[in-house]
Amino acid sequence: MILNLFENWFCPNCGKTERIPAVAGPHARFHTCSKLAMLTAPMLPEGTKAKVVAHEREDYEGIDSGHLTLDADGRPIMNVETVREDGNDLIVFAATATGSAEAIGIHPTHTTGAATAAGSGTAN
Ligand SMILES: [Zn+2]
Repeated sequence: MILNLFENWFCPNCGKTERIPAVAGPHARFHTCSKLAMLTAPMLPEGTKAKVVAHEREDYEGIDSGHLTLDADGRPIMNVETVREDGNDLIVFAATATGSAEAIGIHPTHTTGAATAAGSGTAN
């Protein structure tokens, strides 16, 4: 039995390579890719035939504006896709949900004593 003590990873876009101690089980490595406009992108195990591409968001930004992932060129990015012969993987940059207590009718100045005492940590 031959044990692999190291794993070699590479980026098909920028050419970055890494050699790391072997890790048991499924895992992935990521880096900030200079050829994908500084987006977080996966690295591939050495010998993998695949490409990694970034897809610009094509939807109207609407209320998501300001909550999107932009690349270094200011374009809103929907996802980074690893395309292999037998399938694909996606890193999805979903717009994060936002809200406020006031928007749903909760006013911080009107909280009850029970709500504010819940985290006090004191007991008698
Ligand atoms: Zn890269």
